[in-house]
Amino acid sequence: MSDCLFCKIIKGDIPSKKVYENDNVYAFEDLNPQAPHHILFIPKHHISTINEATPENAKHFGALFAGVKEYAAEIGVDEPGYRVVMNCNADAGQTVYHVHLHFLAGRSLTWPPG
Ligand code: 5GP
Ligand code: ZN
Repeated sequence: MSDCLFCKIIKGDIPSKKVYENDNVYAFEDLNPQAPHHILFIPKHHISTINEATPENAKHFGALFAGVKEYAAEIGVDEPGYRVVMNCNADAGQTVYHVHLHFLAGRSLTWPPG
């Protein structure tokens, strides 16, 4: 989508600090990190919110988890642990309408979130 911030990041029109990429997924450092490792995993295919998930586009969501698993092992947080969060719409705090998995690691995380 031409006016989507994260589509522009995938295309390289807006700079980002990439940490991981494969055919389906792009991952980069969050601008406002909430943990020592705060990475956004996004599908290269534009999907606005989880509410658009269908059996046909499920592979794009699955690819996010496959990417997270690989990256967590790569930086050595797979055993200590990490958190993934996906916000859907305003009440959850979604501000960018291209689905993204927040990956948080590198410190002990509290629960529940606010
Ligand atoms: P949301 O609130 O939609 O779940 O998360 C959006 C995230 O995108 C926020 O954590 C915010 O810091 C991050 N973000 C917003 N704009 C940019 C940007 O231009 N570059 C990067 N790297 N992160 C961004
Ligand atoms: Zn997009």
